[in-house]
Amino acid sequence: MRLKREKKGVANRQKNVFISLCKNCCFLHFSLLLSNELALKHLTMDIDKKKYKVWTWKNPLVLHWIINPGLAFNELALGQRIPKIMVIEKGGRKSLPERSFVPCPHCNTLHTSLKWTPQNNTAFKNWFGLYCDHCGGIIPCVRNATSAVLLALTFPLWYWFKDKWKEKWLADQKAKFAKPLVLTQPDFQWWYVGLRFAFSMFIFMNLFNFLILQEVFTWKKLLINAIVWVLGGLIFGLFMKKFTRTRPTRQRGEQVSAT
Ligand SMILES: [Zn+2]
Repeated sequence: MRLKREKKGVANRQKNVFISLCKNCCFLHFSLLLSNELALKHLTMDIDKKKYKVWTWKNPLVLHWIINPGLAFNELALGQRIPKIMVIEKGGRKSLPERSFVPCPHCNTLHTSLKWTPQNNTAFKNWFGLYCDHCGGIIPCVRNATSAVLLALTFPLWYWFKDKWKEKWLADQKAKFAKPLVLTQPDFQWWYVGLRFAFSMFIFMNLFNFLILQEVFTWKKLLINAIVWVLGGLIFGLFMKKFTRTRPTRQRGEQVSAT
């Protein structure tokens, strides 16, 4: 009887923590999405809507980036970022990365997304945003909600150093982009992308379950989580390969020139 009451008490505490997290999370997401929507007003470039689709936070892939807590690892540790606005060429026989462009709100240059790839050593370490090699400005990126919370909580640890770090980061970017860039589509290692995603989700979900919801830790639960996320990650990797590397069979529209 006593054990039953204790179990019920733990379940109620978990429920209250969960409800409180959900409320705060909804508020945070709403604020982030509103700030993203307001940021779109700064883009002055005229985009030919007949030729291009415009991806903002409303696109499912970008929205997934904002709301998935596991991707905070990619954003904060790896410096992987998604621009607030992407322009996708309609039609043609090219794959998604080949049809994707990133507008710079400072100089209105339309960059091919292939500038930010592992082969150019520019896909990661973009903690301050994406560097524009035309004007030296920083192209703004969307912010993952969990990253935003972690940055807010650790504010006193990094705020005093951010200007110095940014200065060094800008100098590094300038040096990287001064070299000739390879603008061909890089190989997509779906299993590596999947396992990286699985690792982020495994770490986050276990921290969430055992530290926040205070579930009882067992090695069995940990093992089951590991298997679930490895399988989930591999499925995610295959989906991303299919979605981003499949070339349409029908040819429509015109090619664009990008700088
Ligand atoms: Zn620029």
